[in-house]
Amino acid sequence: MLTTHTQLLRLSQGHLNLLATCPRKFQHTYLEKLNSPADSEHEEKQILGSRFHLLMQQREMGLPINNFLEADSRLQTWMSAFASVAPEILTLKTDSQTFRESEHYRTLQVQDYLLIVIYDLLIADYQQAQILDWKTYPQPPDKRKLGLNWQTRLYMYVLAETSEYLPENISMTYWFVQSEGKPQNIQFNYNPAQHTKTAKKLDQLLNQLTIWLKNYQNGKLFPQVPENSQACKYCHFAQRCERIAVIETAMSNVTPDIDTIEEVSL
Ligand code: SF4
Repeated sequence: MLTTHTQLLRLSQGHLNLLATCPRKFQHTYLEKLNSPADSEHEEKQILGSRFHLLMQQREMGLPINNFLEADSRLQTWMSAFASVAPEILTLKTDSQTFRESEHYRTLQVQDYLLIVIYDLLIADYQQAQILDWKTYPQPPDKRKLGLNWQTRLYMYVLAETSEYLPENISMTYWFVQSEGKPQNIQFNYNPAQHTKTAKKLDQLLNQLTIWLKNYQNGKLFPQVPENSQACKYCHFAQRCERIAVIETAMSNVTPDIDTIEEVSL
């Protein structure tokens, strides 16, 4: 949810992705809080994804996880498969040189906005910091597309801005635990050029948002994407926006956006 915090507007990667996809969609979703039509299949996937995140968090905290595993065989399967391909991630190091925390929360103020990130797992030592993120949908997206997603950009940016780590010592790895065959990962290594680029993009997007918000307060709606845009094709606001009709069956066949599944909503 979009809330104010000492006059700052809180923004997550999901908000930035929405803004980048379609400003009007951001308006409908976060300013007007219009809900998507219920989709039981999507909801079930979200619940399962949330359970996996909780399971990983409990495990990291050294709490029992058997109840989760016994309650759903899919979680058991994912966990076993993940343990077989990435045992080092599940090994809890007890040395004082390594910092590990699940659901690690950070904030960064940029302009009048409070940017919020929650890392599924952060592992850091005196040299480098790794951000890990669990995804529970079957098909990993294209790496280039994933690199442009605001989750990738914002997560590494905020860590570089709020810690002593240089960009080149920061990485982010997505683990797709439900991939066909065995879990797969996609890794991004950060660098100073990307950091500068993200800072610029972020600044542009937030400047634009400030203008749109000001206009909105004066009765002007957020801009829409151009007609015939792909973004409208599966958007549940298509009727409201007088764009093409929503094709509900098509929506259910689309791989969901990376930021719409199993993430903790802010
Ligand atoms: S229908 Fe198109 S213009 Fe309207 S919110 Fe969705 S993507 Fe934006």
